[in-house]
Amino acid sequence: MALHYLTNPFAPHRRRTREVHVGDVGIGGSNPIRIQSMTTTDTRDTQGTADQTELLVSVGCEIVRITAPSLTDAENLAAIREELDRRKVRVPLVADIHFTPNAAMVAAQYVEKIRINPGNFADKKKFAVLEYTDAAYAEEIERVAEKFRPLVQRCKELGRAIRIGTNHGSLSDRIMNRFGDTPAGMVESALEFVDVCESEGFHDIVFSMKSSNTQVAVQAYRLLATRLAERSPGEPSYPFHVGVTEAGDGEDGRIKSAIGIGALLVDGIGDTIRVSLTEPPEEEVPVASAIASICSENGDVTVEVVDPGAPFTADPYAHNRRVTRSVGPTDTDIGSNHPVRVEVDLGAVPSDPKQTAETLVRNLKKYPDLECEGVAVHVSDPNSVRSLQAFSDAIGDAGMSIPLAVCVAPDLVAQWPACVARVVIRTATARDDALLDAAAKRCAESRTPLEWNICGDIEEISDRLDRALEASARAELDEILVSVESSLPVHAARLVAARLEARGASDVPIVLRHRRLADDSDETAVLRAAHVLGASLCDGIGDAIALEGFGEPARAVDLSYRILQGARLRTSRTEFISCPSCGRTLFDLVETTERIKARTGHLVGVKIAIMGCIVNGPGEMADADFGYVGSGPGRVNLYVSKDLVVRNIPDDTADDRLVELIRERGRWVDPT
Ligand code: SF4
Repeated sequence: MALHYLTNPFAPHRRRTREVHVGDVGIGGSNPIRIQSMTTTDTRDTQGTADQTELLVSVGCEIVRITAPSLTDAENLAAIREELDRRKVRVPLVADIHFTPNAAMVAAQYVEKIRINPGNFADKKKFAVLEYTDAAYAEEIERVAEKFRPLVQRCKELGRAIRIGTNHGSLSDRIMNRFGDTPAGMVESALEFVDVCESEGFHDIVFSMKSSNTQVAVQAYRLLATRLAERSPGEPSYPFHVGVTEAGDGEDGRIKSAIGIGALLVDGIGDTIRVSLTEPPEEEVPVASAIASICSENGDVTVEVVDPGAPFTADPYAHNRRVTRSVGPTDTDIGSNHPVRVEVDLGAVPSDPKQTAETLVRNLKKYPDLECEGVAVHVSDPNSVRSLQAFSDAIGDAGMSIPLAVCVAPDLVAQWPACVARVVIRTATARDDALLDAAAKRCAESRTPLEWNICGDIEEISDRLDRALEASARAELDEILVSVESSLPVHAARLVAARLEARGASDVPIVLRHRRLADDSDETAVLRAAHVLGASLCDGIGDAIALEGFGEPARAVDLSYRILQGARLRTSRTEFISCPSCGRTLFDLVETTERIKARTGHLVGVKIAIMGCIVNGPGEMADADFGYVGSGPGRVNLYVSKDLVVRNIPDDTADDRLVELIRERGRWVDPT
C-alpha cells in the first residue's frame, strides 16, 4: 500500500507544500503551523464581530473565519473589515460559505480567503438514492464546475485563496451514492473542485477533510495527501487546514482534537489548524497552539532507521487494529479479542502496602463504572519484592481484584509471588543477552507473562526488540507483550509493530505506556497523553494503555477511558457531538449543550448531536443516535439518526421531547 502521504513513518517530517498567501499570512511552505478560529457572532453585527475578532487576535489567532450565509452577511464583511482597519487590527479574514455561491462572489471582494463546502456549494442535500450512469455523473460534475468556475476566476483576479473544506457529514447525494460517507468519498468530493481550480490555472488552494470521528478524519486527510501526491509526483502539494469538527466541549473536546489533529501533525500533515470547541472561540486558540507546539517539538528529524522489513500497518487509510494473541490472567487478558485495556502505573512499590491499597481502592471507587484493569508498580531491589504480595492481598481485602504488573530491570533476580500477573522488563539496561535470557527463563518457569519494555532512541529500537524476541524464543516463552519508550513515541510504536510483523511475531500485543512530563501544565499533559496514545491507537496499535504521573489513580483511569472513547475504541460514557457555533447559530450552543449533557450524560454509549443549524446537521448525525438541530429562531428539529422525526418545535420544549424520544427508542435508563 503506497504511503505517499508521508516521507518516513518512523521519523517526523513535515509534508512538502506550496505556500498559499492569505493576506499577509502564509500557509504551508516553510511557515509555522498557523492557528485559526471562527467568530460566533451574527455577521450583520459589525461591532460584535469586530470585538470578537479583536479578542481572537489578542490571544494568538492568526486567521479569523466569519460565516456569510446570505448576501446581506457577505456585504457586511466590508463594514467589519473597515471597523477592524479603524481599530488597526490586521488579520486575514475568511468567509465561510454553504449553499450560497452568490454570497461567495460578494465576500471575495472583502476577505482574503473563501471557504466553500464541496457538499453544498452547488448541491442541495436530499438524501436521494439514485443510480448514476457514467454519463449522468460526468454531467453532474460539469454542472458543479459551471457553478464554481466564476468564483475561482474572481479569486484569481483579486488574489484571494480558496479552502476546499469537505465535511464528512455533508457530502453531496452524488458522492454518497457512488462512494458512501467514506474517506474515499470525502476525497473525491474535494478533487471534483480542485480540477476546476487547476483548469483555471488557480493554485492558491487549501484543503480540509473534517469529521467528528477522529479515525475518519485521519484516514481522509491521509488519503487526500496521497491522491494529491500521485497527481503531481515530486512537486510540493497544496497545504491542509486540519481539524476535528464538532469535537464538543471541555476535556473531551480537547482530547478528541489532540487525537485527530495530533495524529495528522505527527505525519507532517497540517499547515493550519483549528480546534472546534463548543465554547467561546477565544478558548480554542490556546488549545490549538498547545497541540501545534507539542507536535512540533521534535521538528524534522533525520534518523537512520534500518528498514524494519515490513510495513507498520496493512492499510493506513482504514482503521485496522493489529490482530494479537491473548496474554495474561483470563478475566483481564490483553489482546485484540478484548477491548483496549486500561491500566494505571503507580510508580514505586508502596512502602506501606496496606494503607496504599486502601487509598487506591477507595479512590478507584470514585468511578464505579470505569474498571481499572491493571496496576503497575516499579521494583528496584529484591527487598521490596516482598511487599508485592502484601500489597495485592490488601487490595483484595479492600474489596477489589486488580492484576498487578511489576516493572523491573533485567538484573533483578527474584522469585515472583503468585500475585504478579506480569513482569515488565526494561531492556535498555541489559548489558548482554544473558540477562535477557535469565529474565525470560524465570518468567517461563513461573508461567508469568513478560512485557518487554523496549526503551531507547528510535535507531536502537529494532535491535533491542530483536534481542528480546530471541531471548523469549530461547526460553520457549510465548506469553509475551511489548511496550516501547522513546522520545518519538508514536514513531517508535510503529517501528515495533513493523518489526514484530517482519519477525513473524505480529500477534504479540503492544502496551502503550505514557508518563506525564514534569514541566507540562495540567492541560498540556492531557493534550500530550491524548496525542501520543491517540495517534498510535489511530494506527491500530495498542492493546492496553497505561498512564503514569497523572495524580490520583482514578484520574488516570478516567482520562484513559476518555482517550479511548475519543479514538472511537471503547465507549464508557455518552458521546456528544456538538458544533462550535457560528453566526448561523439559532440558539445558545454552550448553554444548550450543558443542559442536554446534564439530562443525558449518564446514558453510556448513546451518541447525541447538538447542532446550531442544519449545515452539517443530518449528515454528521449519520454517526449519532439522536440529533438536536436549530431549525429557525427559537425552533428545533429532532432527529433519530439522520431521520427528521420532530419538526420545528419551540426550543423550551425540545429538551423534554428529546428525552421522550430517547425513551421511545428504548435507549433511556434512569440515572443512578
Ligand atoms: S452546524 Fe454550527 S458551526 Fe456549523 S454552520 Fe451550523 S451553527 Fe455554524
